[in-house]
Amino acid sequence: MKAIIWQGTNKVGVERVPDPTLLLSTDAIVRVTSTAICGSDLHLLDGYIPSMEKGDILGHEFMGEIVEVGRDVKNLKVGDRVVVPFNIACGVCDPCRRGLFSACDNTNPNHRMAEALYGAVSGGGLFGYSHLYGGYAGGQAQFVRVPFADVGCFKIESDLRDEQVLFLTDIFPTGYQAAEQCGIIPGRDVVAVFGAGPVGQFAARSAMMLGAAHVIVIDRVPERLNMAEAAGAQTINYEKEDVLVALRDATGGRGPDHVIDAVGLEAHGHGPGALMDTAKQKARLNFDRITALRWAILSCAKGGTVSVPGVYGGLVDKLPMGAAFAKGLTFRMGQTHTHRYVLPLLERIEAGQIDPTFVITHRASLDEAPELYKTFRDKHDGCIKVVLDPWG
Ligand code: NAD
Ligand code: ZN
Repeated sequence: MKAIIWQGTNKVGVERVPDPTLLLSTDAIVRVTSTAICGSDLHLLDGYIPSMEKGDILGHEFMGEIVEVGRDVKNLKVGDRVVVPFNIACGVCDPCRRGLFSACDNTNPNHRMAEALYGAVSGGGLFGYSHLYGGYAGGQAQFVRVPFADVGCFKIESDLRDEQVLFLTDIFPTGYQAAEQCGIIPGRDVVAVFGAGPVGQFAARSAMMLGAAHVIVIDRVPERLNMAEAAGAQTINYEKEDVLVALRDATGGRGPDHVIDAVGLEAHGHGPGALMDTAKQKARLNFDRITALRWAILSCAKGGTVSVPGVYGGLVDKLPMGAAFAKGLTFRMGQTHTHRYVLPLLERIEAGQIDPTFVITHRASLDEAPELYKTFRDKHDGCIKVVLDPWG
């Protein structure tokens, strides 16, 4: 089959590789009909997530049709159309039973690898996201093996198009969880979102769905700010305005009640120092650079929430903890517990409350994907979200 392969830092290519096969009786094989490139893939492209190996198949946002099931798969049959959360969860361990699907105890044999690298354990398994997260083959491919298929495959039985449901695999739940964990008081609270990438776009729209009185989105890329404005958000271009002053002015001086950091590693200039505390990485550090996370803490109103869907790893230094402490802020963060959100958010799509296709700017074949990785990374050509057709 054809697949998008990590060939080294800043090197992504299309290669022919063997089709996946069932390894365990709880696996299914999915023929991928649509897949997408995520901001998280850029952290892999840049080489800031350790333990990628040449030849790894990328991709964690995908959906398709079941073509084979292991003998212990109970709820699925060949021909079912499914979306697959980017996290791999067993469904029965203690974290899974508590709904903490991204922290599954049983799907990441390498979760202690991170300890040796930078003193922290990583979470459960992820598709296409390095050996630190289990080394699972990703879904930017024609076929993919889905472990714990009964838990990880959600059937789509309505006639919604792929593009309308594809983002249930990651960015819609991710933006939604980021907004939900703010505990927005409907009709009162102001929510600011740093980063107008796909995650920030869904976070802003989710904050609106959850009743935020006002939503403010901060970025520097005009097309991305325009997309947020189209949803009814106020926008701030941080290259043109002093963000902290603008946020104070927009909130009668108190600051946004909740602030979402939908930027992650990019705020550190694509990750210097954030992942591995090596001399080489340290040399690239610029501690004076004000990051989205620092802005979030400094701008947030007293008693507010700083919600962080943006990905961080390892050690991050120079955070204004004094301000966070003085204001009594609550921090919420982490990989999304995608499984929790697929069905409720599917209902919202079916009810016409949101059409997730708004975010798509580029559609392409797998062969065109390497070029589009760069277009998306460099924010050229108005690129906000790329959807790939593995058979196109
Ligand atoms: P993206 O790279 O397309 O978007 C990031 C945006 O942040 C860009 O538009 C960029 O211009 C903007 N930006 C950079 N520095 C900024 C700053 N200081 N202030 C304001 N904006 C700034 O990525 P995306 O797909 O939207 O993903 C965003 C983040 O969410 C990434 O870190 C990604 O890894 C993460 N993510 C997390 C989860 C999760 O489970 N928590 C899931 C998916 C993605
Ligand atoms: Zn993603």
